[in-house]
Amino acid sequence: MGTLQGQVALVTGASSGIGRAIATALAAEGVQVVAGARRAERLAELVAETGGAVTAVDLDVTDRSSVTRAVETAVGDHGRLDILVNNAGLMITAPVMRADLDDWERMVRTNLLGSMYMAHASLPHLLESRGTLVQVSSTSGRVASPTASAYAASKFGIGAFAEALRLEVTAQGVRVVVVEPGFTATELTDHAVDAESRELAAQLARAIRTLTPEDIARAAVFAVGQPRHVSVGEILVRPSDLAA
Ligand code: NDP
Repeated sequence: MGTLQGQVALVTGASSGIGRAIATALAAEGVQVVAGARRAERLAELVAETGGAVTAVDLDVTDRSSVTRAVETAVGDHGRLDILVNNAGLMITAPVMRADLDDWERMVRTNLLGSMYMAHASLPHLLESRGTLVQVSSTSGRVASPTASAYAASKFGIGAFAEALRLEVTAQGVRVVVVEPGFTATELTDHAVDAESRELAAQLARAIRTLTPEDIARAAVFAVGQPRHVSVGEILVRPSDLAA
């Protein structure tokens, strides 16, 4: 494995779930982590737990000036940016006929446009460091399912953007990794406004061994820790109790 010691990472959506676990795992590998999200108090807990290896930055990925400020803070504080983890996201489920269009807009603005803004603002620094962009997508970025139409659309979009970016920047030494988690126990399903979907998720969580945020963090660290000549393009991680 390549060494991650001394590298600088910016992790979006680091205040809970998968982003928090990735920030913690990278810090344990000696990476200086800048953790971004909107809930400052949750970020402060993470900073306190990780003792100096993680700093917090206020970040709303839907706001272009907030995105620029967060990237400038990371580079200003540490002089470089080696890893961007584009993880911030939300999932609001509902059948198309009952969907709230504001929810669609929020999901596309956060999951898809937000990660595109982050990639755009970080890219000059990743080109300079010959760094790595980790994009957290989903199994919903590969297979769409009922009630998850807009969520899947945002995640399919993420996959398309990441692939185009990978083709553009590979020759310049930047690696693009797409991580596709299956059902992971986090706060994500708390946002599902559709009661039926929330109940289905709760039932599934009782019936199977779900993934943990740490399982996904291991996959992300594996990908970024590879030697420079190895590009791990895509990692699909499913709970082994679920075939689909
Ligand atoms: P959580 O709800 O625990 O985490 C979501 C994170 O995104 C929070 O830290 C939240 O921080 C952040 N976030 C949301 N909106 C914004 C915003 N506008 N600006 C900045 N940060 C934002 O859920 P997960 O950990 O599960 O989700 C993380 C990623 O993993 C998402 O992209 C999700 O789609 C993906 N994923 C999750 C799966 C699962 O089963 N849990 C499966 C597949 C993919 P804050 O509210 O403080 O801003």
